[in-house]
Parts: sequence; C-alpha cells; structure tokens
Amino acid sequence: MRIILKNYTPEPEKTCARAAYESVSPGDSSRLINEEFEGEIDLKAMLKGALDRGHVSILEHASQTFDIERTDRSLTHQLVRHRLASYTQKSQRWVGAGQFGYVMPKSIEKDEKANTIYKGTMSDIQSAYEKLIKLGIPQEDARYVLPNATHTNITVTMNLRELRDSLYNLRICNNAQEPIRDMASVMLIGSKITVSDLGGIVFDNIGPDCLRKDKNCMDILNKKKDSSCIKRAAERMEKVNKIADEYAKDFIELGEGKYLKIDFSDYHKDGLFYYVDDLFIKKIAQPPLHKLEEFVKL
Ligand SMILES: Cc1cc2nc3c(=O)[nH]c(=O)nc-3n(C[C@H](O)[C@H](O)[C@H](O)COP(=O)(O)OP(=O)(O)OC[C@H]3O[C@@H](n4cnc5c(N)ncnc54)[C@H](O)[C@@H]3O)c2cc1C
Repeated sequence: MRIILKNYTPEPEKTCARAAYESVSPGDSSRLINEEFEGEIDLKAMLKGALDRGHVSILEHASQTFDIERTDRSLTHQLVRHRLASYTQKSQRWVGAGQFGYVMPKSIEKDEKANTIYKGTMSDIQSAYEKLIKLGIPQEDARYVLPNATHTNITVTMNLRELRDSLYNLRICNNAQEPIRDMASVMLIGSKITVSDLGGIVFDNIGPDCLRKDKNCMDILNKKKDSSCIKRAAERMEKVNKIADEYAKDFIELGEGKYLKIDFSDYHKDGLFYYVDDLFIKKIAQPPLHKLEEFVKL
C-alpha cells in the first residue's frame, strides 16, 4: 500500500484556533490574519484551552486529503464505515480489472501451503474473470467473482476531528485488523508532520483508548487491562511519534510543492507497518498574512 498526503488545510492548527477565537471574542476574527495584529492573541493557548474544554468542533475547520493506493477492498470497506468523510474509489464497473493485483495477508505469506492455495485461487479467479469478459459479460457483472483481496485505490478527505477521534483512535488500536491499523498509523505520521503550526497540539494525546484514558479496553469489559496488548499499543505509538519527529525536520526544509518520502520497508522485518510500502507528504504553500490596507479596500 502506498499512502499520499496530497492536500491539507494550510496552517491547520491556527485555522482551528482562529475559529475558537471567533466563538469567544467580541472582535472580528479577521484581525488574526492581519499582519498588523500578529502576535496579539496567543493562538496556541486559544487552541489548547478550547480542546481542554471539549470544544472539539473547531477541529472540523481543517481537513486532509489522502490517496490510499494498492490496498484491498476489505480494508476500504472498513475505512468507509467512518462516515464523516468524503470518499472516491476506483470503480470496478468502469475500470476493468485486467491482470488484477491483490494483497497477500501476512499469515498466508508466511505459510508455504497456505501461500500455494492462495495464489492458485487468485489465478483461477483471474482466469474466470477473463473468460466472463470474453463471453461479453459486462465488467460490472464479471467483477462479482473478484475477491476481497483485489487491489483498489481510494481518495479520502477527513477533517481533523474525524481523523483524531474516530479513525486514529479506533483503528490504531490492536483490536483493529492489521492492514487498517498500519494504514491509520502511517496516516497519523503524515498528520503529525503537517499539523504542527502551533506545536502539534491536535495530535498530541492520540491513540487507542487504553493509552489515553484510565479505563478498561472496550473488548475486555469488566476485566483488568490486558497488559501485553497495551504494551504493544504503546510501542507502536512510540514508533509513530519517533518517525514523525525524525521526518518533521526534513519536512521543514523541503521546498513548496515537493514531496517528502518515507519508506517503510525497513520496519517490515520488525513486523511493523507490514502493509504499507511508503508514505508521500506534499509540502503545500502557507498563506501570507494580509496587510491592513487590503481589508480597507474590501
Ligand atoms: C475493532 C473494530 C471492529 C469492528 N467490527 C465491526 C463488525 O464486526 N461489524 C460492523 O458492522 N462494524 C464493525 N466495526 C465498525 C464500527 O461499528 C464503526 O462503524 C466504525 O468503527 C466507525 O465508527 P463510528 O460509527 O463511531 O464513526 P464515524 O462514522 O466516523 O462517526 C464519528 C462519530 O460521529 C457520530 N455519528 C456518526 N454518525 C452518527 C449517527 N448516524 N448517529 C449518531 N451519531 C453519529 C458518533 O459519535 C461517531 O462516533 C468495527 C470497528 C472496529 C474499530
């Protein structure tokens, strides 16, 4: 799987902080994008205060757009359950499967016998699909023989609230299946690197419930926390934070319009991010502050 963070709201944390200012200040929030008043308001405190008070809807003013490429239809079925988002997925009606690619689950990859069964089945499906197409069956009907494993591409746009409180918190948890856990973890690395204009407050306290709140995991209600599971979750989050910190410096130096590439193949041998090959993050232009005269003209 390849993940591309191709677009996002510039100055995401400031954008959310300015929205918070709108709600609590008698003044116009346009002051905050005016050169004249720069530094007048402590935007970082404004954002932190709003989030601490649970005023999290301000996070809906900034969004991020990711392309998820060469993933599979099982994963995208899980992804689109996160409803407060926009999705566009490669159509199997209009785009023929051709020689279709597919995802190989880790457990099957490792087991020789399972591997042979899996690849043989994929090959049989390929041949059935081709035969149906040759018989004149429309792509939209022939696709019914295609497996969950079939490669697909999907573009997803989510606001920071949905990313933070739904996708990342639920899917980085060990209860989520590994491919979507890997996808969410790597997307979070992209989010952390790009949502940092006020120090990265938004994605500071993030991850599965067990790491954020002093409560039992939902899946082991009324029991003590499963310490080995929590340990693995903590290790994963530590790795996510470390990679984000490491590449944040490279990203700062990157020219506008260029992409930062993070290769995950090195982590595969440690069993981490197995389903993700690489992440690309585009450096987008940050808007300049306005001058007072521009407002006078308006
Ligand atoms: C580990 C795991 C296992 C899962 N297993 C299954 C399964 O076996 N079968 C299955 O069907 N699904 C399963 N799911 C999917 C799960 O049920 C949710 O659909 C998915 O996690 C999205 O969560 P959500 O609905 O809270 O989030 P979103 O759709 O992203 O919504 C975000 C939040 O907005 C609010 N919201 C959104 N829509 C509404 C609404 N209509 N009414 C009120 N509030 C709303 C809620 O507060 C919600 O938490 C699983 C998810 C996980 C993480």
